[in-house]
Amino acid sequence: MPAAIEIRNLHKSYDDTAALCGIDLTIKPGEFYGLLGPNGAGKTTTIGIITGLVKLESGSVSVFGKDIITDYRFTRSRIGVSPQEFTSDWFFSIEKLLIFQAGYYGIPKKDALPRVEEVMKKLGLYEKREEKIRFLSGGMKRRFMIAKSLVNDPDILILDEPTAGVDVELRRMLWEYLNELHGKGKTILLTTHYIEEAEKLCERVSIINDGRIVTEGGPDELIRSLGKGSIEVRLTGWQERDGRRLDGLSFAYEPGEGDGKLIFSVDDPEKELPHVVELVSRNGCHIHEVKITKSSLEDVFVSLTGRAINE
Ligand code: ADP
Repeated sequence: MPAAIEIRNLHKSYDDTAALCGIDLTIKPGEFYGLLGPNGAGKTTTIGIITGLVKLESGSVSVFGKDIITDYRFTRSRIGVSPQEFTSDWFFSIEKLLIFQAGYYGIPKKDALPRVEEVMKKLGLYEKREEKIRFLSGGMKRRFMIAKSLVNDPDILILDEPTAGVDVELRRMLWEYLNELHGKGKTILLTTHYIEEAEKLCERVSIINDGRIVTEGGPDELIRSLGKGSIEVRLTGWQERDGRRLDGLSFAYEPGEGDGKLIFSVDDPEKELPHVVELVSRNGCHIHEVKITKSSLEDVFVSLTGRAINE
């Protein structure tokens, strides 16, 4: 079976700005895939090219084995896209605009209304279906944009920063819904500069910076490859000693008022936790609190580019 999306050596410049400098990506059918990177990295340009809104300069993109330029009718019909910017006619109601969208995809009138109603119910828009878009809150507008991308029941859902500027509750709701769609076999490609979103949702991510993919893999795999984490133990009874290794583990000690903190630097904090607790207890200490810190995709990005994603 061909890849859901296959991108080969994609280049794009705007005047004198090189936005994409040779992107390669393969997204398998049914995969939940993330493009993670800071503002200006080239994420929106990449999805703009896949969806036919931006013209590519060189390279190729195919969707289920069909070229996005020569077979654009096919490729566009398989994709639903929710852009970052709100784009719609502000003077119509939610329901009307979703019905227009269905018409745009050639869905017959008799099928359009049930389809639109289902999508509105799923996204908590049904009660507001008569409201005009311009009166909706930012979060409701975001729901509407996602509803719009789902009207044609696409195999591939592409979302540009789907939770930018939405509150925590809506973010969780959208995450849940995206997981449900993923469970039904949809291929999902999202862009985000929000690290937790990529870690929580995506099976694989490409980390993108300055128009190049700097690394690619499962979030856990990328984090493990960095191999850094720590275990902090707040305790009393620690006897200062020479050397900064204990049973093969390196550590630092920070004395506090009445207690102190041992900080162990380890590759896999969860795995090492019982070992650390046993070691500290064996040294006659009383443990008050244990805190695990794992590396994140942010650390992976920093280690590869020397800068932070959200700086
Ligand atoms: P991201 O989505 O990761 O924030 P973009 O794809 O929007 O990144 O932008 C990549 C680069 O291309 C940036 O340097 C941006 O300023 C530039 N760029 C994007 N769109 C345009 C445009 N229409 N005209 C000129 N430059 C653009």
